This record gives sequence, structure tokens and C-alpha cells, in this order.
Amino acid sequence: MSTSTPKIAIIGAGPVGLMLAAILHHRGTKCTIFERETSATVRAQGGTLDIHAETGQRAIAAAGLLTAFKKLSRPEGEATRVVKKDGTVLLDENEQQQQDSKDLQNGQEEEDGRGRPEIDRKDLKDLLIAALPESTIRWGKGISSVKSVPGTQRWMLEFMERDSNTEDSDSGPYDLVLGADGAWSRIRPLLTDVRPLYSGVTALDVWILPEQLAARPEVSAFIGEGSCMMFSEDRFLSLQRHSDGSARAYAMVRTNREIGMEVLDANALLGLEDNEEEARDAVLAMTEQPTLRPLYMLPVGHRWEPRPGLSLLGDAAHVMTPFAGVGVNVGMMDALELAEGIAAYVEQQEEKGEEGLAQMLRKYEEGMFERSRKDAALTASMMEIEFCEDGAEKVVEVMTGGEPPA
Ligand SMILES: Cc1cc2nc3c(=O)[nH]c(=O)nc-3n(C[C@H](O)[C@H](O)[C@H](O)COP(=O)(O)OP(=O)(O)OC[C@H]3O[C@@H](n4cnc5c(N)ncnc54)[C@H](O)[C@@H]3O)c2cc1C
Repeated sequence: MSTSTPKIAIIGAGPVGLMLAAILHHRGTKCTIFERETSATVRAQGGTLDIHAETGQRAIAAAGLLTAFKKLSRPEGEATRVVKKDGTVLLDENEQQQQDSKDLQNGQEEEDGRGRPEIDRKDLKDLLIAALPESTIRWGKGISSVKSVPGTQRWMLEFMERDSNTEDSDSGPYDLVLGADGAWSRIRPLLTDVRPLYSGVTALDVWILPEQLAARPEVSAFIGEGSCMMFSEDRFLSLQRHSDGSARAYAMVRTNREIGMEVLDANALLGLEDNEEEARDAVLAMTEQPTLRPLYMLPVGHRWEPRPGLSLLGDAAHVMTPFAGVGVNVGMMDALELAEGIAAYVEQQEEKGEEGLAQMLRKYEEGMFERSRKDAALTASMMEIEFCEDGAEKVVEVMTGGEPPA
């Protein structure tokens, strides 16, 4: 290693790669993020994420961004409705939420709800990007592969678009290459042959624009301030409100085979004809940007043998389905623990060299494997109960303090 400060490349400017860079920056350690997309705004960033106090918010606090996060996040977005397909409302937290807001306005202590305020994915990423020096992120620089430097524990990056006439100083060599490049990571194959498998569930993702939602007060009321969920055999409907006044539906079906847009008749495919009129109307009001998302997962307990200078975090390490709503939070904890390991290594400035760095990564991975295994197991068992005929009852039991499924 040329200096005692490792040269660090993070692959992917998703919420997890950005979180890692923001904590490192806050601790005074330099890194570079390589992102294949050309800017933060090149595509719609998707829906809302609930950021948990004990995980995601701890990482945000470690980057010195908790106050800014609290200004952007929506505690009222936690309000959940759970409705059966015959229209029976089993849980509605909106009244309690309104009471909490009134108490707050009257100067009374804020109730923290479940401590999981919602934030739009775009707002979270913008917050993290704004905390970084502009030169940290190399937009439009996708990684095609990573090659080891013979005789060392260092790595060179190869980019998707290469200008063969110029030497690219961004190529490396790097002491640490950290893959935060999501479910289809290009770094993962250097560590394991395991690939994500189809979970058996496909989500139809559709939106309603703010002005359209404003014109449909009954749809707005059905969703409430946060989200509304309906469950039945092989079906799960989730409607969510966003901070800009738009909303989205994930209408999910368990098919055990991947399905394509050509079979898309929302009514028939998603079993909407069985649903009570209000719910059917709410989904059918959403017509913007229909996208099918087959949901993939790595096997529960997936791990790999350590390799000096290389590691993974976030979905690249442990992509799971969204059925326990924990994915980004697990990834943000990865970012926190990895950043703490790197910062401790840098700050101690001991003569530890490559072996010390490799040891730091091993320790991070052992902790991450154990922690993410529990979240992946919870996610897999939540998926089982959510696609049952009595899924609504079971989910309400868990949400109101019952034991989560084993
Ligand atoms: C439908 C759905 C709903 C969800 N809801 C929730 C929820 O409510 N709560 C929750 O906690 N989690 C939720 N999740 C999970 C959450 O979205 C993920 O866990 C989270 O986005 C993972 O972040 P990441 O940064 O690891 O990966 P990503 O968000 O996938 O980011 C990876 C980044 O890497 C870039 N990249 C990829 N390949 C390359 C390459 N070769 N070179 C350079 N850059 C590359 C990509 O462009 C992207 O910017 C949901 C997921 C889905 C699919």
C-alpha cells in the first residue's frame, strides 16, 4: 500500500453507496464513487422508504445529517391502513397520527410512532449527494469489471465506456473496491458464484400524479396519510403516498413464474375483481409509468469467503424482497459498520498494511453476514404470511406487537 490511507472506490451511487461515502467524508476519509447513470435525475427514483431509528437513522446520524433528514422525512407517512378485500378495515393509524400532529402543534411532546418516518428515495439520495464534495461522484462511469494487480492486493477498474486513446487515472489501482451496485452487482462474481433467484412474486408498479390525486379525494382518503395495504391468497396490494402529492401502487402477485407486460390486465391478473369497489378504483386510478418488477432475492444466509481489498454492501450483498420493509436499512447499517472499520483503520495509522485492511474487511463481513441473515429470514417469513388469505389479520397482529413469524 502506497500510503497509510487506503485508496477507496465505491461502485454505485444508490442510497447505500452514498451513505458509505457520506460517513467516510464526515470522518475525513476520501473515496470515489463510480455510478453508471449519468446523473441523479436521469430516471424517476422510485417510491418511499421507511428509515428505522435503530438502523438507517443511526447511519444518517454518523454522517452528521440527522437534523436535515428529520426536516425532509414524513413521520405522518408511517400511518398505515390495513384493509381486507371485502372492505373491512382492520387497522387505521390515521386518527392517531392526526392527534399526534395536533399535540405537537400544541407544544406537547412528539410521539415517535414506530420510529420509522418515510422519505422519498429521491429526497434521501439528494440529501446524501449534497453532503459530498462534487468531485466524489463520477457520474456515467459504469464498471464493467475489476482486475487484480498481479503480486499485490490492489485492484484496477474497467469502465463500460472506455476511451482507448487516453489513460484514465480513475482506473486505479485501489486498495479497497466496495460494491454497492445493487442486485445485479458486477463485483459480486469476484466473491461468489451465487446469483439472485426469482422470489415467485412480481409487482406491477403504477403511479398517480399529484394533480390527478388531488382530483380524486376518495382515492386519497383510501390511502390515508401514509400507506394502505390489502392481502389475500397470492395477492398483496400496497398503496403509498409521496411527499410531492403523488402516490403509487405496488400490485403484487405470486406467480412462481416471471410474467411480462403482454399478460397485463390489471383486473384479471391482480385478482382485483375480487376486491371491494373502493380498493379496485384506487388501483385503477393509477395509470402512470406502469412497470413490472419481478422481485429477486439472494438465499437467506448467503455468504462468501473473504478476498483482500474487495467487499459488498447493500443489495449487492444481500438483496431481499421488500416484504419486511428493511432492505435499505440493512444496507445503511452495512455502510455504517464498514465506514467505522475503515475510519478506525485510517485513524490508528498503525503499520498494519494490507493484512490490517484485509482483517478489517473480514470483521465487517462477519458482522454483516450475521445481521443480514436475520433480516433476510424475517423478510422470507413475512412474505409467507402476506400472501395468505388471512394475511391482513396476521400482519395486523405483527404490527400491533405480536411476535413476527419465526
Ligand atoms: C418494489 C420495492 C420496494 C421497496 N421498498 C422498501 C422499503 O419500503 N423499505 C426498505 O428499507 N427497502 C425497500 N426496498 C429495498 C430497497 O430499495 C433496497 O434495499 C435499496 O435500494 C438498496 O440500495 P443499494 O444502494 O444497495 O442498491 P440500489 O438502490 O440498487 O443502487 C445501486 C446503484 O448502483 C448502480 N450500479 C449498478 N451497476 C453498476 C455498475 N456496474 N457500475 C456503476 N454503477 C452501477 C445503479 O445504477 C444504482 O445507482 C424496496 C425494493 C423494491 C424493489
